[in-house]
Order: sequence, then C-alpha cells, then structure tokens
Amino acid sequence: MKSAVTGATDNMLGQPQHVKPSYCTVCKTILDGTSCVDDEAKPCPGDITICLYCGNVMAYDDALLLRNLTDDEKNMVAEDKTIQKLLHKIHTNPFFAQNNRH
Ligand SMILES: [Zn+2]
Repeated sequence: MKSAVTGATDNMLGQPQHVKPSYCTVCKTILDGTSCVDDEAKPCPGDITICLYCGNVMAYDDALLLRNLTDDEKNMVAEDKTIQKLLHKIHTNPFFAQNNRH
C-alpha cells in the first residue's frame, strides 16, 4: 500500500503524476493529478490518497477511481503516522485554507 496526495499538480510532495480523472467523494472536485509519498510509482488499486482540496482520505478502486475507505482502511489510516502527518500538513497549509473558505 502506498500513500499519496491527490489534487492540484502544484503543492505536491513528490513527482506529480497524472491519473484518470475521478471525483473526490466529499467535495466532488475532479482530481486528475497525484503525488506518491513513499516512491514515484503510479497509484495502484487499494492505495490510499488524500484530497488536497478538502483533506478527505480515500482509496483507489480496481479501475483506479476514487472510493471511500472501508472500516479496516479507516482504522489503518488512523494509526498511520505518515498519513496523519500529511493530514496535519494539508489542514495547516494556506492553499488548503484558501480552498475551504466558503
Ligand atoms: Zn475533496
């Protein structure tokens, strides 16, 4: 499993990658770029990703479209220090605040 941040192609942590356009399950933003945290590989089914616009944590399904987490994945995310650190960074980033000022 890899972690990634999905959203705009700037403000990325690693090398940005284009992915199949897919809607965030919360804010409905079309997300077509991602940046892997662990390595520069493209996302695979089951990989965890975070929407850069709203901070929603999702996973890629078998067609590499975004889906909500299963209960097991939610528990894993809650205990994953890398993901929690990323969520904190996103929630305290001015870019995030700007996109959530509505
Ligand atoms: Zn979102």
